Amino acid sequence: MKTDRKKVVISEFIDACAVESLARHFDVHADATLVDRPDELRVLLDDADALIVRNRTQVAPALLDAAPQLIAVGRLGVGLDNIDLAACAQRGVQVFPATGANARAVAEYVIAGALMLLRGAYLSSASVAAGEWPRAALSVGHELAGSTMAVIGFGGIGQLVAQLARALGMQVVGYDPQQPASAACWKETGAQCVTFEDALRAADVVSVHVPLVDGTRNLLSAAQLPLLKPHAVVINTSRGGVIDESALAEALRHGRLGGAALDVFADEPLKAASPLAGAPNLILTPHIAGLTVQSNERVSTLVAARVTQALLESGRQSQRSERVTT
Ligand code: NAD
Repeated sequence: MKTDRKKVVISEFIDACAVESLARHFDVHADATLVDRPDELRVLLDDADALIVRNRTQVAPALLDAAPQLIAVGRLGVGLDNIDLAACAQRGVQVFPATGANARAVAEYVIAGALMLLRGAYLSSASVAAGEWPRAALSVGHELAGSTMAVIGFGGIGQLVAQLARALGMQVVGYDPQQPASAACWKETGAQCVTFEDALRAADVVSVHVPLVDGTRNLLSAAQLPLLKPHAVVINTSRGGVIDESALAEALRHGRLGGAALDVFADEPLKAASPLAGAPNLILTPHIAGLTVQSNERVSTLVAARVTQALLESGRQSQRSERVTT
């Protein structure tokens, strides 16, 4: 039944508290499986005022055309590569990401990955359980303290990673073309601003925190990987496509790289025949670095609040313009 209340469609998973808070003001249609049923999603969007997504729903012109009343898109995360920002702007649709709300979860993932990979001993459960006792091979790991972390992309998450790394006694170098050496973030975090190549050469751990744009595609590929020390480890929680997966797998297999943790992939879900399969000292996770109980609550609450504000504000504006015209 059609009501005067505005309508919010949520096509991927969201914390239940956020749905409750939206439902106080709006008709809410929340279904985490909608992303996999695009025809149904398009029908639901016909009279929707807001759409809330994670990273799988492609907010492209075709979807926006199916949503003529849309006022706002909420993004339960920060990467905006699944949202056509120009198409949204053209149609007057505001986009609300959850900036900062999952940074802590990603930063902790990076530190855990760095500790595990540099030590190189935590993936030995199967061989120890099989009675192999590989003690000599696993006694040559590195400590985090005194090692150097290179942070590529010194935005919100990169800076938090730098702070945590410094707290554990690491040196931190960073590269970000939009953060000049005079920017306050370097002093505030105790990190040193260097060139991209110098960051790679200095690193025991490389952690990548750039958006996926034309200039960052294959940022770390066969040409750059040889700059790394052979025991260095690479952690990518940013976006697949930023690192050349085949070149990385080859470097791991040939002992030219110490290890890697990848949470994001050029093609998600990663296909079983990927060149990464079976590479040594490699941790693969299914795009969950930013997902914890706490971050999910923070992200959902923040996006629900911003969408609520946008819809209530637009309601007030249309009431005002109705008063002017009547
Ligand atoms: P941010 O916008 O705060 O920071 C990104 C930084 O990258 C900016 O400072 C920008 O200047 C810099 N940058 C752009 N091009 C660069 C280049 N060529 N070289 C070096 N630096 C460059 O973003 P953020 O919140 O820190 O997020 C970083 C990335 O992490 C995004 O891609 C986001 O999608 C991803 N992310 C992933 C997860 C996950 O669950 N895996 C969760 C949150 C964020």
